[in-house]
Order: sequence, then structure tokens, then C-alpha cells
Amino acid sequence: MAVLYLSDPARGQVFARAFAQALPDLPFHIGQAPDPGSVEYMVAWTPPADLSAYPNLRLIFSVGAGVDQFDLTALPPQVGVVRMLEPGIARQMVQMAVLATLALHRDLPAYLDQARHGQWQARPNRAADRTRVGVMGLGQLGRAVLEGLAPFGFDLAGYSRSPRDLPGVDCTTDLAAFLARTDILICLLPLTDQTRGMLDDALFAALPDGAHLVHLGRGAQLDPQALTRALAGRLASAWLDVTNPEPLPQDHPLWSHPRVIVTPHVASQTDAAQGAAHVLAGIRADRACDPVAGLIDRGRGY
Ligand code: NAP
Repeated sequence: MAVLYLSDPARGQVFARAFAQALPDLPFHIGQAPDPGSVEYMVAWTPPADLSAYPNLRLIFSVGAGVDQFDLTALPPQVGVVRMLEPGIARQMVQMAVLATLALHRDLPAYLDQARHGQWQARPNRAADRTRVGVMGLGQLGRAVLEGLAPFGFDLAGYSRSPRDLPGVDCTTDLAAFLARTDILICLLPLTDQTRGMLDDALFAALPDGAHLVHLGRGAQLDPQALTRALAGRLASAWLDVTNPEPLPQDHPLWSHPRVIVTPHVASQTDAAQGAAHVLAGIRADRACDPVAGLIDRGRGY
């Protein structure tokens, strides 16, 4: 039995130290395993295209919070895929979502644009309790973000695939109703066949006039042309942490759009030591035949 780590080598050293301390009998290899047949666990951003050399592989741990970079259909059916769950990811996501929501709520893009032109001009402040914030995706991160936003007094709603019940949040599975009552839309959906391209003309048209977008999910969920059209119409502003492609090309018009703020996919970054602890816990759970935290439903894609 062995672990094969196939991601950033410097972070791999942090994993190697954590494994040497916690599971000294379990061989931990970085880059390649001398005996691929012994590899039961893999840690990777994307696994090798051909996994036939690893007939005993049981679990692949993603080094990222999403698993959309995996071609799930190409993996052997018995191999489980585990997404990265470490507490810092949610904490950082809450910071970013609060930062972006407050920035758009308080018209920061417009004030930055005015400042560039030396314009001292006040805009009316809106009351938080009359600002309807809607989070798409009520998973690990969407729920944490809603909790983080609660103290500001926004009127909160959440949208998910299956019914959810969260205190103080108007939860729904009805997308049209959710969009119609959302002034600030925060996307925290996983990228799947269902959510790819979901932020499109029809979705923006279903938002109230003057709505804002905070996109923290995955770039391929957003149609950038539809966003540009929406910004010329009813959408007031957008904060994009994720784009398609990444990086956003230098000459892309969204970089210089006066009502768009772009950050380079930095909402959350995995801490290597915490990531190693998550993988160690997963391997221990798997060896004890207990449920593995973060094991995704391959059929559902998240
Ligand atoms: P999660 O725990 O798997 O939750 C996903 C949520 O999305 C669930 O509530 C799920 O509904 C909902 N959902 C999935 N497909 C849907 C659909 N077609 N329609 C409606 N709702 C749908 O995921 P998470 O940990 O919260 O993470 C969410 C995503 O954030 C990740 O997949 C990743 O793409 C992104 N992310 C971005 C960054 C960044 O730095 N920008 C960092 C980390 C993660 P159910 O509740 O019904 O299952």
C-alpha cells in the first residue's frame, strides 16, 4: 500500500512530512512510485490520463476544492474521488464573499471609476435589509458565506438542487423565483454539465434591474459575452474571481470595464498542511471502512 502525490513538489514536501509523522509505515511518493501496483491513494490536481498502471488505486484526492478538472467518465469505476475540504477554504471564501458583496452593495466599482477621473460625487446608500442577497449553491461554502453575511442584515436567500433549510435564509429550488428576488447574486456552484454556462443571457434577464453578480464558482459557468451584454443593460456591476479562460487574456474587455472587478481566482487557497491533514483523515477513514469526508458522487459530478 502506498500514496502517490502528483502535484506541486514544494507542497508535496509538506504532505510528505505530515505523512512521515502520522503514518510512518505508509510509503509516500512524490512524482512517481517505484511500484505503481502498490499505489492505493493518489493526491493530484488531475490524475494521469492512463491509470491502468495503478490497478489497486482506491481513492484520488483532489488538491483543490472542486473536482471539475477531472474527467470523471474516464476514471475506472471503482476509484473514488475526494475533493479538498480544509477549514481555511471556507474561512477565506467567507472573507471574499463578504468583501465582494459589501463592495458591490456600496458601489465600490463606481467610486473607483469616479476616483480615476477625480470626481467627488456621492451616490445614495441602500439599506442592507432592503438588499436581497442570493447565494447559488448551498454546499460547504455557500452555507458558510450565508452565515458570514448574516450579521450585515441583508435579506438572504439560497438556491440549491435539493431542498435545504437554513435559519434566516429563504431557501428554494425554484431558480426563477430565486433570481427575481436577488439584487446581489453570489455564484458558489460546482462546475457540472448542468451548471456549465448557467450564467447566461436568460439568467441575467431574470434578475431585477440594477442587480450585481459576485462570481466565485468556476469560470466556465459564466458566458462572458452575456455578462458584457447584461452590464450594458440591467446588471449594475460584477466581481469576478473566476473567468473562462484563466488567466483572462490581457486584452479582454472585462479587465477594463468600469463596473467590473476581476481577481485572479484567489478567493480560497488550500493550505498544504491542512490539506495533508484532510488527506490523512480520508485515508484513515477508508482503511477503517468509515465514510470519507469529501467523497463526491461521481454520477452527480460534485
Ligand atoms: P458542495 O459542498 O459540493 O455544494 C454544492 C452546492 O451546489 C450544493 O448545495 C448543491 O445542491 C448545489 N448544486 C449543484 N449543482 C446544482 C444545480 N445544477 N442546480 C442547483 N444547485 C446545484 O460545494 P462547495 O464546497 O460549497 O463548493 C462549491 C464550489 O465553489 C466548488 O465546486 C468550486 O467550484 C468553487 N470554489 C471556488 C473557489 C475559488 O477560489 N474561487 C475556491 C473553492 C471552491 P444540493 O445541496 O442539492 O446538493
